Amino acid sequence: MSEPIRVVVTGAAGQIAYSLLYMIANGEVFGKDQKLVLTLLDIPPMMGVLEGVLMELYDCAFPLLSQVIPTADPAVAFKDVSAAFLVGAMPRREGMERKDLLSANVKIFKVQGEALNAHAKKDVKVLVVGNPANTNALICSHYAPSIPRENFTAMTRLDQNRARAQIALPTQFPDVASGTANGKPVTDLVEASYLQSDFVTTVQKRGASVIAARKMSSAMSAAKAAADHVRDWWQGTAAGTFVSMGVVSDGSYNIPKDIVFSFPVEIKDKKWKIVQGLKLDDFARSKLEITTKELLEEKDEAMQVCNA
Ligand code: NDP
Repeated sequence: MSEPIRVVVTGAAGQIAYSLLYMIANGEVFGKDQKLVLTLLDIPPMMGVLEGVLMELYDCAFPLLSQVIPTADPAVAFKDVSAAFLVGAMPRREGMERKDLLSANVKIFKVQGEALNAHAKKDVKVLVVGNPANTNALICSHYAPSIPRENFTAMTRLDQNRARAQIALPTQFPDVASGTANGKPVTDLVEASYLQSDFVTTVQKRGASVIAARKMSSAMSAAKAAADHVRDWWQGTAAGTFVSMGVVSDGSYNIPKDIVFSFPVEIKDKKWKIVQGLKLDDFARSKLEITTKELLEEKDEAMQVCNA
């Protein structure tokens, strides 16, 4: 059994964290022989709820859990952490302007970036879940200049998992990550017209469908995607497979540099590498262009707030 590592979860009193903490404490992310000290950050009004989460974590009697530290102080939460799940963010409310949402999140991710910079291990692996995750990751990295930029990532794995699930329905055994199902290319098994229409809209609208049915956002599947993301980062991807991660662009696939964008990555020795040479058809290119435009606008607005 190795020495415990410290792991922080922010928004720890929230819905996603409630599922995520179980997965982390159970050894699914960092391995079954890695002891953990978990620090749980939330805002002061949530400390009572967090106390309940703490009790439940202890009552699970996880053998890997050495200690749990609930706190509203970022300096305590980020102290010596090797991994950070940044789940807490300002939720989008009805009628809220994107600018207001961005400036609220700039404040949160500035504080957390500075705390990571001052207190975390320099090789800390950071996953941002709180939306807008790509831009929040960029802001966080901006305020943590002593930590390499490639250590800041955003969660796009939920879309990959949702896509996998949709392909599984018509093909039974999917591996959308490598574009195959039952060893055959997905494109041989499913109609192209489906892949460009219902498939895309179903995955895009999945979050809204869950809210409509559950009257609450997706939390279990978001937590599973966060756990999958960091598990693969920590433990590596199997040879010949790749996963989706929001990482800082190096210009691959003609995506502008210096925005956090979802790329196919393979991971070895805790380092991700963008998989090159995947073919993109016109349909995929047109979708990537829309996303690129949105992310560039969001980055500009966020940087204006940062520099104000
Ligand atoms: P959730 O745990 O459901 O969601 C947290 C964040 O994850 C939101 O920004 C949400 O974005 C995002 N998210 C990403 N993917 C998904 C998905 N598929 N489904 C749902 N959400 C997704 O929110 P809760 O309100 O239950 O909990 C948030 C907690 O964070 C609260 O306890 C709050 O006090 C805390 N918080 C803590 C901060 C801190 O530690 N400093 C700062 C701000 C908040 P979206 O809004 O788009 O749904």
